[in-house]
Amino acid sequence: MKLYEFQGKALFREAGIPVPKGAVVTASDREGLFAPSAVKAQVLSGGRGKAGGVVLADTPDDAAKAADAILSMELKGEPVKALLVEEKANIVAEYYLAVTFDGEARTPLFMASASGGMDIESVAEHSPEKILKLPVDPLWGLTDYKIRAMADFLGYEDRKEFDGFVRKVWKLFREKDAVLVEINPLVVTDKGLLALDAKVEIDDDARPRRKQLFEAMLSEQRSLAGAEAEADHGTITYVPLEGDIGLISDGAGTGMLTLDLIRDMGGEAADFCEMGGLTSPEVMYDAMKEVFSGKPGIKSLLVVLIGGFNRMDEMAEGIVRYLREHPVSIPLVVRLCGTMEEEGKTIMKEAGLPVYDDLRTAVADAVRFAAGGE
Ligand code: GDP
Ligand code: MN
Repeated sequence: MKLYEFQGKALFREAGIPVPKGAVVTASDREGLFAPSAVKAQVLSGGRGKAGGVVLADTPDDAAKAADAILSMELKGEPVKALLVEEKANIVAEYYLAVTFDGEARTPLFMASASGGMDIESVAEHSPEKILKLPVDPLWGLTDYKIRAMADFLGYEDRKEFDGFVRKVWKLFREKDAVLVEINPLVVTDKGLLALDAKVEIDDDARPRRKQLFEAMLSEQRSLAGAEAEADHGTITYVPLEGDIGLISDGAGTGMLTLDLIRDMGGEAADFCEMGGLTSPEVMYDAMKEVFSGKPGIKSLLVVLIGGFNRMDEMAEGIVRYLREHPVSIPLVVRLCGTMEEEGKTIMKEAGLPVYDDLRTAVADAVRFAAGGE
């Protein structure tokens, strides 16, 4: 899950990584606007600076104009729904600092360059020697000498400050299950190091053990981007199809198998909706919401679950919770098995909902119900 700059910076602030003072501004809430300031578009793609999404404003009037202009932009197809307005920094130098994973070497990897800023991509392409790449041994962790090597490479003199800064970045990377923490530019000011930009991406597979973090970040993103944030950054895949049988599966494989079975038995699915194998009551709830709001006129709903990592009690809880809040009049066919199967079935039965054991019987019933059968 990619975070907006303002979200990344909130995590930085909490981790003690210095960031400029700032406020989030939207079209409907301009309270935080001030000047002199840097007015920055909040989008999930990069390269805002070059596209005009970062404007330095000297007066309140400039700031208001910049806000109007940027809030009406689309950057790489993404409409700008929010701005981060920050105190301007006096920049002495622009560094690049990032930590990510090197998939091939299977280790975390730090990258540092004294040529940070908007042209880092071309630096990477044309002068790769200007970027230091330092793998971190997962067992040894980030050692002192690697941090010294980075400070040497950048030519930054205050070793103690640099050491503290990099350690905080590393700690954040691990504690939030990030796959990327990128600071470009990391600026040198007369008061020391300052993270002027923040690009943070959290590992989607970490969602079950970072529930609070994901929920907090997702609810902020939802309130900015509206409903589309859910499908984009959650684990749910939703594709509308031509038919009238709503389909939810816990994984893509199960989903495709079920699509075939539906077709074989003479039905047509209304959608392909799968939860990426990662499940919680919330994900199940969101999948139901997705299917019912995605396409009107569904005649039956088929839910096919195979409990591996995912737990049937959690799935059942999500289904029951959704139906309690949004009663539906169409027949529901839920087939579940595997991990916590008995608990899941109990929850369904207590809510008066039928459960199926056999996949073929479940699909056949969903097809029959959709065709108006009893
Ligand atoms: P990006 O292009 O999406 O990565 O946006 P950044 O937040 O990195 O900003 C792009 C560039 O704008 C930076 O590299 C800086 O040169 C410049 N910039 C951003 N904030 C400030 C600021 O507060 N003061 C000054 N002088 N320049 C800034
Ligand atoms: Mn940047």
